[in-house]
Amino acid sequence: MSHTPHDIFQRSSAPVTVDESRCIADKGCTVCIDACPLDLLAIDYSKGKAYMKYDECWYCMPCERDCPTGAIKVAIPYLLR
Ligand code: SF4
Ligand code: SF4
Repeated sequence: MSHTPHDIFQRSSAPVTVDESRCIADKGCTVCIDACPLDLLAIDYSKGKAYMKYDECWYCMPCERDCPTGAIKVAIPYLLR
């Protein structure tokens, strides 16, 4: 994958975090995985929870918006707000 402008941002953690206490992937939900146009999210089947597999986020937001339980939080870098 080519380098894109977001590579310049310094981050201490992944831009997309999943509140595992809210995530219902273990009940069969795959909404965020299906919503992400870049296929960045995946389900950790050992835990039954979604997580950010690839740190290449476009901050397009459907994962956070469409999650039925509000488990996803996308941290938009300050410079993009
Ligand atoms: S959409 Fe929400 S509840 Fe469903 S798998 Fe993703 S984080 Fe979990
Ligand atoms: S904000 Fe967009 S690119 Fe980033 S994880 Fe969510 S759906 Fe994927």
